[in-house]
Amino acid sequence: MSSLASKAGCICTPGPSRPKACVHSGVCFDEVDERCSAQTCICCNRRTGPKCREGLGIREWACGECGAYHHRNINAAVNLLAAGCRRLAE
Ligand SMILES: [Zn+2]
Repeated sequence: MSSLASKAGCICTPGPSRPKACVHSGVCFDEVDERCSAQTCICCNRRTGPKCREGLGIREWACGECGAYHHRNINAAVNLLAAGCRRLAE
C-alpha cells in the first residue's frame, strides 16, 4: 500500500507515525492500493507493462495496446497519484 498526504501534495511511505503526524499537521492521510501500478498503462489503463519477477528489471516499455512509451517508475507514480485523487474525490 502507498499513502497519500493530499494537503501537502505528496505521496508518503507508510509508517506507524505517519497518520498521527498528518492529523497533527492538518494533512489528509489515506492509503491507496499500489498493485499493478507499474504495469498499468497511464494512457489506456490496460495492464500491458512487464510482469512477474522477470519484468522487474525492465525499466522502460511500450504499451502493446496504445503504443505509449513509459518509464516504469514514472508510470507507477502517475497511477498512484490518480488513485489518490480518485480516493480524495470520494
Ligand atoms: Zn496503453
